[in-house]
Amino acid sequence: MAANPAVDESTLHAEVLVLGGGPGGYTAAFRAADLGKQVVMIERFPALGGVCLNVGCIPSKALLHTAQIIHEADEFEQHGLSYGKPNIDLDKVRSWKEGITKTLGDGLAGLVKQRKITLIQGTGQFTSSNTVAITTETGVKTVSFDQAIIAAGSHPAKIPVFPNDDPRLWDSTDALDLAEIPKKLLIVGGGIIGLEMATVYHALGSEISVVELMEQIIPGCDNDLVTPLYRRIKKQYKNIWLQTKVTAIVAQAEGLKVSFEGKSAPEAELFDAVLVAVGRRPNGKLIGAELAGVKVDESGFIAVDKQQRSNIPHIFAIGDIVGNPMLAHKATHQGKVAAEVAAGLKAGFDALTIPSVAYTDPEVTWMGLTEIDARQQGIEYDKAVFPWAASGRSLCLGRKEGLTKILCEKGTGRLLGAGMVGPNAGELISEAVLALEMGADAEDIGLTIHPHPMLSETFAFAAEMITGSITDLYIKKKA
Ligand code: NAD
Repeated sequence: MAANPAVDESTLHAEVLVLGGGPGGYTAAFRAADLGKQVVMIERFPALGGVCLNVGCIPSKALLHTAQIIHEADEFEQHGLSYGKPNIDLDKVRSWKEGITKTLGDGLAGLVKQRKITLIQGTGQFTSSNTVAITTETGVKTVSFDQAIIAAGSHPAKIPVFPNDDPRLWDSTDALDLAEIPKKLLIVGGGIIGLEMATVYHALGSEISVVELMEQIIPGCDNDLVTPLYRRIKKQYKNIWLQTKVTAIVAQAEGLKVSFEGKSAPEAELFDAVLVAVGRRPNGKLIGAELAGVKVDESGFIAVDKQQRSNIPHIFAIGDIVGNPMLAHKATHQGKVAAEVAAGLKAGFDALTIPSVAYTDPEVTWMGLTEIDARQQGIEYDKAVFPWAASGRSLCLGRKEGLTKILCEKGTGRLLGAGMVGPNAGELISEAVLALEMGADAEDIGLTIHPHPMLSETFAFAAEMITGSITDLYIKKKA
């Protein structure tokens, strides 16, 4: 990644400086440039795209697609197709995954050039409320700015007492490296990263154990949506220990010895590798924010208003660094808002919901109000759950465990929340998000003609269950 050669970097000034080149940062930089601002973007790594493109969303989805093919080929044996055991060429799988990130990274570099954005590779830290010092391979450069957008992201949480320097103790970046397929892999944390990586390594042949602190996997998601996933992986994986804590990990020559404290876990067991996926921490304390006067809380988050402004009005912050959920699609939207406000437009981040998707098998997705939220907030609702066992398309995929659930406001039928679990469920949630943003009610959704036979019909069928017009199921009328 080279800086724009036409720019004299010794006296660099930015109308808008963007710190961080992940999905939030590059979207903010592109939008600001498109609105006529002269933009400098700083990224510490040689490739643009941040965690999402290089060591997150994109490489994990490439490997999850590989896993899906392995599973589907295996499961279709019972429906008359058999290919035998897969022959896995790990080097080829890895280079295919790397090729995808490179293609997308090169695309981003092209978009930077087309927009005449000055890109500097180095680690930026604020030195005042209008300057940033960038440590590069060739020395320290200073850039002054009128306005700045902080998009410096997050990093994997580590547990300090674990042997973090041992190469057999992985974070998500190590897991995506695909250096080897461990015989016995323990996943610490039954959240989204842990379960996605479990899906990949199980398909590639590892014996998987998952340990989760809470009483269910993917805590925060309604239990009925998680249950079909839980039932399936319970059969596939060696162990899923819930309400269990890892108390110690000790590096031994023959493996990592892990001690547990929990209901059904053993006292200790040896693993060939351990992936720690217990959340991410914001990078707010790593960017010299205090020298710019930007307030960073104890955890490293920067508080912002609806215009994405920090407490210093000409410094904005977006993405993981401003709070949960830490999702690329939240960051890109906030990046556009910050760039538009910096360019003098009236904009604000007022999305009604940010959808979540676990790209497991089956996929689990939800948006808007959950039943957990409704219980906590005392909100009454009408609920419908359409079983995919009654979806022709789902049966054609060889799968019947899926569900589509919608929650509607009592009396009006207005959509409040929705969730799905099943193969490709993640593709279905956008329609629910659009319906929520447009203020649709169950009747609007049920009367919207969905193509047959598609999984998307299940959303309309759930709405018809609310209005009482469903014909694809028989629901006995209440007396
Ligand atoms: P997470 O918060 O989703 O899950 C972490 C899990 O670890 C939780 O279930 C938690 O209860 C458990 N946990 C915490 N401490 C533990 C301990 N000591 N022992 C056992 N379990 C413990 O975090 P993540 O999966 O690491 O993901 C990090 C972030 O990245 C999240 O914000 C997530 O939304 C985001 N992400 C999103 C996607 C996606 O959208 N598909 C994919 C990957 C990551």
